[in-house]
Order: sequence, then structure tokens, then C-alpha cells
Amino acid sequence: MLSVPAVAPAQDTPTEREAAREVLKKMDALEKSLDVPALVARLAGPNAARDQVVARAKQLMDTELLALADDIATHPEIGFEEKRSVQKLTDYLRKHDFSVELGTGGLSTAFIAKFRRNNGSPTLGVILEYDALRGTKGPFHGDQHSAQGPVGMAAAIAMAEYLDRTRAPGSVVVYGTPGEEMMPPNAKTVMHEAHAFDGADVIVRSHASSQTSRPAHGFGTCCLNIVGAKYTFSGAPTHQMTPWNGRNALEAVIHFFENIDGVRASIRPEARIQGIITEGGSAPNVVPDRTVADFYIRYPDEVYLQQVVEFVDNAAKAAALATGTKVKIDHYGKDLDGVSVATLGELGFAYMKQFGATGVNPEPGKPQGFEETGSVSRDIPGIGITAQSSTWSNHTYEMDADNLKEIGHKGFTIDAEAMAAMLFDFATHEDYRAAVKKEFDGIKALFGEYQTALKKVYIVPNVPDPQ
Ligand SMILES: [Zn+2]
Repeated sequence: MLSVPAVAPAQDTPTEREAAREVLKKMDALEKSLDVPALVARLAGPNAARDQVVARAKQLMDTELLALADDIATHPEIGFEEKRSVQKLTDYLRKHDFSVELGTGGLSTAFIAKFRRNNGSPTLGVILEYDALRGTKGPFHGDQHSAQGPVGMAAAIAMAEYLDRTRAPGSVVVYGTPGEEMMPPNAKTVMHEAHAFDGADVIVRSHASSQTSRPAHGFGTCCLNIVGAKYTFSGAPTHQMTPWNGRNALEAVIHFFENIDGVRASIRPEARIQGIITEGGSAPNVVPDRTVADFYIRYPDEVYLQQVVEFVDNAAKAAALATGTKVKIDHYGKDLDGVSVATLGELGFAYMKQFGATGVNPEPGKPQGFEETGSVSRDIPGIGITAQSSTWSNHTYEMDADNLKEIGHKGFTIDAEAMAAMLFDFATHEDYRAAVKKEFDGIKALFGEYQTALKKVYIVPNVPDPQ
């Protein structure tokens, strides 16, 4: 799901930029007060203990975990069916003294693994993903989630061993999060609502990328805010030669699409309303009594998105009314803006370069959370580490092939090293933790101010009753 455009303003529309003006000024002042470049220069400088942790992460990758990444890459499993992958990952974690609890939030391929000799705070969280893409030729790892488990485990185990060996305070928790490419359910949101991530002070995750990059500080998402919505129409079946004896749910769903097209001009142009008909009837001689349409409704911000969703819902209700059918509306999931902080993003970027990452994009990408739902990354600071691991774009067969090649292996190893180094710095420098917290809390508050400003802009016009 991750993608990083080359030029990346935080706000996508003139209206948003206007609403964000004051907020961005304050964010600028916050960033200046943190002096991130000086902080990064100090942390990324020589440190023998950190280098040991990084070397251990690399050793785990070289000796065992790249092979495991290859194995998962060649046995792809789609979201919520990642049984074999989860078995391999949790076996490895158990072998390295992690206790594993499966079925987090009622999702059978979700898990939480805690190091057995955890020693208080800070709690370092690592997200693993492992679902493959759904393809016409079967599942494939064209987004390289196959490597995320091994990469995250290398960093987590290296860091847990360090804390254990030195008896330094700190805990390591690994979160197995299924179905990143699927909605519903939105696995991380479900897990978050089940309090899976409670107590984490920071969360790191890796992701495949065709360039080495980091997000700018702020709030945002890669691919617009999304509401997933399903519309189920019910009618009454009858012979197509006497259709007046039934009610046609196919006519209803066709009207629904036409109704949406009929009001597109009244909706702000940045909206994307994309739907498919997943059920359209079973036989041409029977009036269809059940049809289903599945939509992703997108807008750059979640405030106006609510108005767009209302337009679409009303289009469905009108279609049902016009055809004498009934409609059930299910808003089954959403992906919203997340928060990204420079204190984590810039340090991770410095480490990726230090460890030899290729295809470096010098400019920060668009602000975005470290996970796609925005639910976790709004509450817990974190970073997605993305060293170049392919020359192809995400979700391609070519990126899948790179899983097993030098460019993939190199990128994954650098991801593991950078994540290990960041967890080390976070655990061992109290002032760094304070800086991350200050930036995160500040940006989160400003995000709230931005949303309040947007609510003032997106007025809903007064429509009087007809005289
Ligand atoms: Zn992905």
C-alpha cells in the first residue's frame, strides 16, 4: 500500500493548504525547537554498543532470516490466511525466548510476542506483516511483505538480547499484523481497539520500496483517506416475463451508480469514488433479488470525506426508493491520516544511508503514519523503515522476483540494521525519547487544530423546505 511520490506537499488541495496555514507555522516552530539535524548527528555518531546490536541483527539476517524471507516469498498466502507464514515466524520467536499469543483481536493469524525477560519501560514495539497480494495467477509477494517478518525479528531479537545482557531497562514486543492489503477487517485497527498496542512507547516497521526514503514530519497518508463501504440491495424474485410481480435489485444497483455520476459535479473534484458490483443476480430469467456493490470512497482529508460518504449513501437510498427495493449500508473500514515525526524519520534515514542503502531520495516524502490505517500511528509514535529493496514499483511481479535477488536481500538487511539501531537509541537515550514524545504530542495537537479549521471551511449549505 505504501508509495512515496517524489514531490510531496502535506496538503493536497488549496482549501486544505489555507486551513493548515497557522498550524504549519506552529509546526515549523516546534521542529526548529527540536533541532533534529543536531540530534541525528549526535545519535548516529560512533557508538560501539549500538554497532554490536546492529551487527547481531545483520548476523541473524545472513545466517537464517534471509533464508526464511525467501521461504515465505516462495510460499505466498493472502491476508488472513497466512497460517504457514505465522507458524514459521512464531516458531522462530519462541526459539529466541519470546512468548507468543495467537489470535489477537479475534484474528486467527494475528499475534503478540513478548520477550520473556522484558524489564520494564520503555517498551519497544516491532510490527511484522506477512500477507501476499491477491493476483490473477494466485497469491504473490509483489509488495515484499514476505521479508517484513524476518527483518522485524532480526531487530527485535538483537535488541532484546542486548537489554537482557546489559540488564538495561526496556521491553521488546513484536506484533504480528495480518492482512495489510485487505479491508475488511482493518487488522491493525481491530488489534488497536483490542488494546494490542497499549503500552508501546515506539513502534518500528519495515516496508518494501523502490527508493530509500523517509516521510516528512506532519500528518497525512500515502493514498487519500478512505472509507470502505458495502451496499446490499434486496428485492423480490419473479419470472422476468412478469417482472411487475417482483422488485429488481439489479435495477437498484445500476441506478445507484448512475445517481453517483449524477452528483459528481456537486462534490469537490479531489474526491475519488470507486465501486464494483460484486453480486449482480444469478440468471437472466429471474429478476435479481439481491445485488451488492463494494466501494472505496476517498478524499484527501477525513473531514470532507464524511460529506462525500453521505452523498454516496444517499445515492444508494434513492436508488432503493426509486426501485421499490431495500438497501443495507455497511461502512466496514477506513484508512485515515497518520502522524510522522522527524525525530524518528530523519534518524532512520541517516542510518539507512550509513548502512549502504541505494536509490536514495534526498527529499522527504509526504508525511504519513508508519501503518496504513492511521489508527495506531495517531496514538503511538513510530517509523516505517524503507531502504530500496527493488528497482520496480510496488505490487508488481518484478518486485516479487527481487525478493530473492541481491537488491532485495541487501535492502532487507539494511532495514533490519536501521531498525535495530533506532530501537537501541530509543532505549538508551532518555533525552531522545523525550524529543520524540515532544514532537509527537505537538504534531498530534496540531492535527486536531487542523481538523477543527477544516470543519469551519467545509460548510454544509442550508437547504430550505420547498414553499
Ligand atoms: Zn504493503
